[in-house]
Amino acid sequence: MITIIRMIEQTIAYVLRMVAVVLNQAASVFEPSPVSGLCQSTLDRVWNWTEAEKSAAWLIPFSITVSLIFVFGMPMLFKFLSDGAPHLETVPVPSATFDPAEDRQSESFGDDDVRPQLVGPEVKPSIEATDPSTGALLGYVAAHTVDDVDKLVSKARVAQKAWASSSFDRRRRVIRVLSNYVLYEQQSLSKICSLDCGKPLQESSLMDIAASLEKFQWLISDGEEALKPSRRKVGKIVPHKVAHVEYSPVGVIAAITPWNLPINNIFNPVSAALFAGCAIVVKPSELTVWSAVHVIRVVRRALTVCGEDPELVQCLIGEGDVGSKLVKADGVDKVFFTGSTATGRKVATAAAERLRPTCLELGGKDVCIVADDADVANAVDVSIRGVFSNSGQLCIALERIYVHRKVKEEFVRRAVDIVKKMRVGVDLGAITMGTVALTRLEGLVEDAVSRGAKVLAGGKRTDLDGKGWFFEPTVIVNMKEDMRMAKEEVFGPILSIYDWEDEDTMLETVNSCTFGLGSTVCSEDKARANRLQQELEVGMCNVNDFATTAICQSLPFGGTKNSGSGRNGGIEGLHGCCKIKSTTRDRFVGFKTAFPKVLRYPVGANVAEFAYEINDLIFRGGVIGKMDNLRQLIGMTLFPSWRPRSVASG
Ligand code: NAD
Repeated sequence: MITIIRMIEQTIAYVLRMVAVVLNQAASVFEPSPVSGLCQSTLDRVWNWTEAEKSAAWLIPFSITVSLIFVFGMPMLFKFLSDGAPHLETVPVPSATFDPAEDRQSESFGDDDVRPQLVGPEVKPSIEATDPSTGALLGYVAAHTVDDVDKLVSKARVAQKAWASSSFDRRRRVIRVLSNYVLYEQQSLSKICSLDCGKPLQESSLMDIAASLEKFQWLISDGEEALKPSRRKVGKIVPHKVAHVEYSPVGVIAAITPWNLPINNIFNPVSAALFAGCAIVVKPSELTVWSAVHVIRVVRRALTVCGEDPELVQCLIGEGDVGSKLVKADGVDKVFFTGSTATGRKVATAAAERLRPTCLELGGKDVCIVADDADVANAVDVSIRGVFSNSGQLCIALERIYVHRKVKEEFVRRAVDIVKKMRVGVDLGAITMGTVALTRLEGLVEDAVSRGAKVLAGGKRTDLDGKGWFFEPTVIVNMKEDMRMAKEEVFGPILSIYDWEDEDTMLETVNSCTFGLGSTVCSEDKARANRLQQELEVGMCNVNDFATTAICQSLPFGGTKNSGSGRNGGIEGLHGCCKIKSTTRDRFVGFKTAFPKVLRYPVGANVAEFAYEINDLIFRGGVIGKMDNLRQLIGMTLFPSWRPRSVASG
């Protein structure tokens, strides 16, 4: 026992001596200040430290740092390494076969009403699916008619009743299964996605799969926190209360989606809706129904293996008429529409007639501002990624590249050099909407050229071994704001370069655009980049980068002006799947709001004067004044003959 005490004593003494050494060394930094001299002599007298201890003094800060890293870093590292993997032990990962060749044949999905399903060509109505990069037939998908809409909505509604009160553990479990499922089947899913809209596998893998996985991950880690009741301040009038905002599932969500990211466009609203306790009826684009069949099947299987009701997720296969009916259907509580501005307007009008809330994610015409102090090589990389990702068929594609005149020459040279080496079918996918879109893109280029623009690369449609709908990767310079391409959404692989000199004029021009979705600012000057970021009238903005705001799932995604309203990502997106209720409760048990007699109905005499005094008491500063207010209030309460001062003063 004594030995142990001695050891502890010696250890403490050693640590103290080391601290003294460190202090001494720190003090000597200020040499020849009197402080260091004083420290030196005091320490010399108090601590009999040796040279070896002195030279080992660095051990203290070192060991403190190591300990801190160990204490705080290890749990973080463990969390990072373990995220995902351990779930496999507790969550069953359903097996799946996604051989497109097999799926081309009819596959029953159980209940006949529960399409989507792949069918033979004899089944009517159905939608034929082809690969836009080859024109190859992928299969037929049984289609719904407008008469089916109500049936699917009511199935979702019934399922939602029970799901509304499900625990966050159950919801997380579903999203985890979904996440694991997508991760382990990513190759098949990427292939399905790529075939359906004609894009290279890396595009599907990064844009559709990675974005979906990140969304799932965010829901798992942060979703519950976002949906917990949030406490608010009560203000000055009712300090005896506590106030909260509470979130409950909105009910049945209708999600109408486009074709450009066929997997992510479905997983995104479906996962948010399920996590928020809602059911969802998805109406995917008629151009990508083939992949929708598979995506919906994955979600429904994930629900089934978790023991949850697959009817929570319904899928309507059809064209605009089916979407239009869904927006108006009884039983739909909220509409999430992602698509063109023109269709968005129709959806908003139909929903407004029913006072039905909407979240509208519409078209974009995103700008990239390249300043004269930008790292030009990086700005070119960012612009090329922003223009050509998904062959430009992204709502957040960078459609207007505003390059400062000082760096324009270098920017154009570098950009043309890269773009001329890009290959359709490898770097760029097909134009999913086919010949209609190709003709439109050629028309936009012709219009720009006729008004003074110059094509430096590409500029027309092309094919791959005689097949598919492709557009050459294009660079066009001398762009002006009066050209059609400056105003209309391009949705194609065209890098259009505008130049600028004066910042204020450029900002005014850029902000006069009717769209306001995303944007990028390229500048090496942090303050300038921040300023430009603030000035842009858009929903999202990145500095020296493209699409990062869309990748960060904690951030709301959405735009201003013709790019829509509402947000579909982050906390705001989850709240968009909820009914929001404000609540107050008594702060202390038994301490309720009690009105003085004069304020109770029927109100007493001088009630208005009483109210003036209360307002003064609460909101006017000064102790003396408040005392006076109190005196008046007590007087009016206790003495019926009390003459209020505002009456007394006339
Ligand atoms: P689209 O507007 O033609 O179609 C979108 C969906 O709406 C499809 O499912 C379609 O069947 C349906 N629809 C058509 N008419 C309808 C109606 N009257 N009522 C209800 N639904 C109807 O758009 P698209 O060509 O499929 O997609 C490309 C557009 O989507 C581009 O403008 C792009 O910018 C936009 N988009 C926006 C975002 C975003 O988040 N802001 C994301 C992706 C795509």
